[in-house]
Order: sequence, then C-alpha cells, then structure tokens
Amino acid sequence: MSYVDEVLERVKAQNANEPEFLQAVDEVLNTIRPVVEENEEKFKRDALLERITEPERQIKFRVPWVDDKGQVQVNVGYRVQFNSAIGPYKGGIRLHPSVNIGIIKFLGFEQIFKNSLTGLPIGGGKGGSNFDPKGKSDREIMAFCQSFMTELCKHIGADTDVPAGDIGTGAREIGYMFGQYKRIRNLYEGVLTGKGLSYGGSLARTEATGYGLLYFTNEMLKANNIDIAGKTIAVSGAGNVAIYAIQKAQQLGAKVVTCSDSTGWIYDPEGIDVELLREVKEVKRARLTEYAAARSSAQYHEKKNGEHGVWTVKVDIALPCATQNELDLEDAKALVANGVIAVAEGANMPTTLEATKYFQDNKVLFAPGKASNAGGVATSALEMSQNSERLSWTFEEVDAKLQGIMANIFKNVDAASKKYATERDYVSGANIAGFLKVVDAMQAQGIV
Ligand code: NDP
Repeated sequence: MSYVDEVLERVKAQNANEPEFLQAVDEVLNTIRPVVEENEEKFKRDALLERITEPERQIKFRVPWVDDKGQVQVNVGYRVQFNSAIGPYKGGIRLHPSVNIGIIKFLGFEQIFKNSLTGLPIGGGKGGSNFDPKGKSDREIMAFCQSFMTELCKHIGADTDVPAGDIGTGAREIGYMFGQYKRIRNLYEGVLTGKGLSYGGSLARTEATGYGLLYFTNEMLKANNIDIAGKTIAVSGAGNVAIYAIQKAQQLGAKVVTCSDSTGWIYDPEGIDVELLREVKEVKRARLTEYAAARSSAQYHEKKNGEHGVWTVKVDIALPCATQNELDLEDAKALVANGVIAVAEGANMPTTLEATKYFQDNKVLFAPGKASNAGGVATSALEMSQNSERLSWTFEEVDAKLQGIMANIFKNVDAASKKYATERDYVSGANIAGFLKVVDAMQAQGIV
C-alpha cells in the first residue's frame, strides 16, 4: 500500500465521525500524490503526512452567557491550531448552529494550504462555536462574544494565533471580541483581523474575499482566452463573500443574476441590485424576501428540500459563496447541461468531491476555494502588517496588493498543475503549491 493510502486509512479510522474533515483530507492527499511519491521514503520516515493531518493543538471550551430573559445559555467554543510551520495560526471564527469539531478541523486543515498559497507568513487555524447569532439582540451577541473571548484570550496573541471573521462573525462580533481581549490581557495589539477602521482595521478587508475571488476568476479566464465582460453569473449566498463578489463581478462587466440565503434564493434577470442587497443583509439583517419585495424584476424562491436553487439557472460562470457542500453532483450536471464554462469557489469546500470531478471531466474551468477565496486571509495578513507598523494603508494600496497576490496565486497554481498534474487541474495545482512550502518549513524545523 502506498504511503498516501496508509495515512488516508489511518486518518479515516481515527476521525470516523468527522465527514467534512475526511473529505478535505481525502482531496488534498490524493492530489499531492506525485510530490509524495517523489519523496516517499523521507516523508514516511519523518511521518510528514501523519503530522500535517493532526492538529498541533485543539482547544474546546464552555461558553456560558445570559440571554435577555435572564436565562443562562451554554455553547461550546473551539479553536483548532492546526499548523504553525510558516507563521502564527490564522483563520476565522465561525458562529453557526452546525459547528462541531469536525467542521472546524476541516476548515483549519484547508487553511494551512490556503495561507501558504498567499505567499505570506501565516499558519493554519480555525475556530468557532455552535452559537446561532440569528435573532439575538445586540446585548446577547455582546454577552456571548465576551464569554467566548474570556477563554479564547488565553490561547491567542498577535504573534501566536490571530483569528478573523467567518460565517456569523462580522465587524460587530469582532469588535466585541477585540474589546474583551484588550480588557483582559491589557494589550492593544493586532490579535484579530477584520477590525473596524477606527481601531486598527484595514481598508478593503471587508471587500477582500469577494473581490479576490473575482481577481482570481478573471486571471483563470484570461489564461484561457475568455473575457469576463458580458458573462452571466450565478452566485449563492448573500453574506460577506457573496455581496462583494457580486459587486466586483459587475465592475468587471459581468451580470450576476442570482443570490441566496439559508431560507431562499433570488433570480433577478436584470442583474442583482447590490446596494439593495447590502441594505437588506448588512444593515437590516433581514431575509431575501425583503429584497424581492423592493425589486419588481426579482423572483423569490423558498428553499425546499431536494431543490437545487441557484444552480438550475442558465449561466456562464458559477460562484458558490455560501457554505460547504452546497453544490452537489446533480447541481454540477444541471450547470454543465446549461453550458457553464467556469466555477470558482468563494466559500470553503462548497463543491462536493463528485461534483468537482464532474466539472473537471467536462472541461469546466474549476477554481478551488483555497486558491480563489484566499484574498480574505491575504488581506487579513496585510492588516497584521499595518498593525505591526502602526500605519494604515489606503484602499487603493491594499486593493493593488490584493490584486497582485491573487494573480500570483493563480500563476503558482497554474505552474504546479502543469508540472505535477494535468494542465488546468487547478485543484491539484493549489494543493501541491500550498503543500510544498509548508512541508519544506516542517522539514527544516525538525520533529515538532
Ligand atoms: P456570512 O455569514 O457573511 O454569509 C454566509 C451566507 O451563506 C449567508 O447568506 C447565509 O445565509 C448563507 N449560509 C450560511 N450557512 C448556510 C447553510 N448551512 N445553508 C445555506 N446557506 C447558508 O459568511 P461569509 O460570507 O463570510 O462566508 C461564506 C463562506 O465563505 C464560508 O464558507 C466561509 O468559510 C468562506 N470564507 C469566508 C471568508 C471571509 O473573509 N468572510 C474568507 C474565506 C472563505 P443567511 O443570510 O440566511 O444567514
């Protein structure tokens, strides 16, 4: 049995109840086979794959807080510090009822390779809680965030582990967490990214993941002689990533005709009105029914079990920007039947393994999230640099750096796919390019 297969069996046996983590490990290990085979003896002796698939540290803690009725609520908090070979742990905090250790481990594992691809000195980590911010008052959100940080602050720091936002954690939550960290640790440092501009945040961080997704997609299309202008795009999600992906796609001359949230989706043949969407989602924190009510060209569809929503619409490009495994084989078949030419992941692992393979088999250009959504974490690393320098760069400076980083990621992914895999296999290219740097640093640092 090959070394990769041995480790895959071991990881499956040891993490049997963590399907998302196994899915992520399965994809990465299977695509890095050519590199492992070149170095099989050495990697095996040094147990490199066993080490890279086992987090350096996992922290699980109780988060008690008092709701508006005076009732004590208890949630579970997690921080997985996965790999610090190339820099302090870096990765977001997810607040969603579906959060469990397997989801945080999958996200932390992916983060290792994504962060490596940015070319910046950041290791991989992720955190979160099964807390549901939906329907909570501001005071309840603050009570939860303060309790969460009261424990988390013992384990993080500007040079140790620097969390950021993710699903359910936006500027408001980061603000409350930063305030509590400062209060307990008596340190004013860049311990979180995604901060507000008045206390150390970076311009363009809010836009970075969505904008970066489009910069990457555009590079991929250009390399394949396709012009994004005039193309029709389906986006899923209506959160941070989706909103700024829609905005940048429109700036590049494309037309985005869909978006979605956890209860329904919109088809707007005139093109999504991004300012209205921001108002509904960022300001009112309301459902997409409010978008439809305010715009006559929009059709609202309630999400029903078994229905495939935004992926049934005829488009040239699909950008899944909501959550993991939201685009399955049936969706991929519908998109291909409708003539889709490119799919780029804004969310983390939104496409199932079967759907990814179907796209690749059908010659659809496919950009994996760890490359195409790396603009968020890259800009978080730029926020860390500004905090260290105690300086703030202009929007244009940050945006220009982001564009350069995304172009560079595409170049490296493309080169790795040509060298080690099949040309245009950007999944393998991203995993290999990310893996090479981390593994080099791990080998240099001995058995730790
Ligand atoms: P937000 O919380 O801002 O938005 C998430 C969106 O997806 C919302 O519209 C939400 O619906 C919808 N959604 C969330 N969970 C589900 C679910 N289980 N089923 C259906 N819809 C769901 O999160 P972000 O935009 O920040 O993150 C989206 C994705 O992008 C995640 O996979 C995240 O890990 C990834 N990502 C985010 C980065 C960032 O910088 N923010 C960086 C890199 C990756 P509703 O409005 O109803 O809540």
